[in-house]
Amino acid sequence: MIGASWGRWPRYQHAIVPLRSRFDTLSATNSLLPFGNGRSYGDVCLNERGTLITTRALDRWIGFDPASGILECEAGVLLSDIIDLVLPRGWFPPVCPGTAFVTVGGAIANDVHGKNHHRLGSFGHHLLGFELLRSDGDVLTCTPEQNADWFRATIGGLGLTGLIRRARLQLRPVTSPWIKGDSQRFRNLAEFFQLTAASEIQHEYTVAWLDCAATGRKLGRGIFTRGDHLAGPALNASKALKPRKTLAIPLTPPISPVFGASVRIFNTLYFHRPSAQRSDMRWHFQQFNFPLDSVLNWNRLYGPRGFFQYQCVLPEQDSLAALTDMLQRIARAQQGSFLSVLKKFGAMPSLGMMSFPRPGVTLALDFPNRGADTLRLLESLDEITRQVGGAVYPAKDARMSADSFRQYFPAWQEFRRFVDPHFSSSFWRRVTE
Ligand SMILES: Cc1cc2nc3c(=O)[nH]c(=O)nc-3n(C[C@H](O)[C@H](O)[C@H](O)COP(=O)(O)OP(=O)(O)OC[C@H]3O[C@@H](n4cnc5c(N)ncnc54)[C@H](O)[C@@H]3O)c2cc1C
Repeated sequence: MIGASWGRWPRYQHAIVPLRSRFDTLSATNSLLPFGNGRSYGDVCLNERGTLITTRALDRWIGFDPASGILECEAGVLLSDIIDLVLPRGWFPPVCPGTAFVTVGGAIANDVHGKNHHRLGSFGHHLLGFELLRSDGDVLTCTPEQNADWFRATIGGLGLTGLIRRARLQLRPVTSPWIKGDSQRFRNLAEFFQLTAASEIQHEYTVAWLDCAATGRKLGRGIFTRGDHLAGPALNASKALKPRKTLAIPLTPPISPVFGASVRIFNTLYFHRPSAQRSDMRWHFQQFNFPLDSVLNWNRLYGPRGFFQYQCVLPEQDSLAALTDMLQRIARAQQGSFLSVLKKFGAMPSLGMMSFPRPGVTLALDFPNRGADTLRLLESLDEITRQVGGAVYPAKDARMSADSFRQYFPAWQEFRRFVDPHFSSSFWRRVTE
């Protein structure tokens, strides 16, 4: 069967084997890879000509203590399901990526981060433990104390150390489904850095949208948004969850509407829209944390050839010059899209051996797949990332070179010892063989 990830490129032939119960074992006939909900953009969740073990049927709750906020569930449970269960009881996942449609197993394997990294770190920081099923039938219980090296290898371990069957998470208390905050325009990257410095001590969530089509004096302009969970009276369970209003992109257009002129026009309108500059904003958490989830299958907009996302992290001291260079190259190539995000990570070291989050500034942008031109541009962004000692996020990648990977993740040699002999992925073979 053909399998693809969120970027819809590459597409590979796979055998698909659903895991129906957490007590099932794995039969290692060829190379295996767990598959969560396919929200990774590239090939980290793909295994060309191998087997994908799908985990969505592992969707059972194991325990939830509303007094302590400790939740135990199977690894195929989605963050959106967790929120539906726990928010009316005054709890919330401490770290949420930009979509709630990810599984717990996928969130661990990429050690995902959210808009509050500077406060709460990444997903692994809130993990109390998990069970790891190996292809030889062994089951390892991993916590920060027990099998601690397997715990560190599996957080951000790209699905290669074994299959996570169940996990225990510490949730964080909230008293409202609402986020209050403000939005303001910045005219250039220097203003972005000033706003970040002024905001991150006081605000839990900070993130910026960037106009990647802007050039000249407008280069690096964007909109900075910050917010906090609204403190309020105890949650009323029935009002905590507004029904999700969703649109859907019903089919893939033969030609993508995302191209140079449409991006320039959209970005200019978006930058100047009145709500870009507003204090006293109040967002429902779905609008704030997961804005793209309200348009189902939005990835189809990039047309039949799919798209790439490039997400890098750059050490702060070099980031102004490096980002300026990157944005100039992207604008010159007229290849960017509407979705460009800039955010500063905090200093909390990630727990995973191979985790992506590290101190610095992270830039994430989507690029329609225009073949060799796009690959050349992305490699030239990699040149800059390598020069300043940054890294590219495997969860978003389908093309980084083996040399780049080894520079970005020097712990890969140590990590290799933990890779299950029957597990592999297209990503892993590309960057290590
Ligand atoms: C709109 C959008 C916004 C996003 N925003 C962010 C963001 O802000 N921050 C961020 O960090 N990421 C972000 N992502 C990426 C996404 O959070 C990660 O790729 C996440 O890992 C996807 O989870 P999944 O369940 O879909 O797993 P998949 O994509 O299916 O798999 C991801 C990895 O997890 C492994 N895996 C899955 N289940 C298991 C298991 N049970 N045991 C062991 N390994 C397993 C797979 O082998 C693979 O290596 C975003 C993605 C989208 C589409």
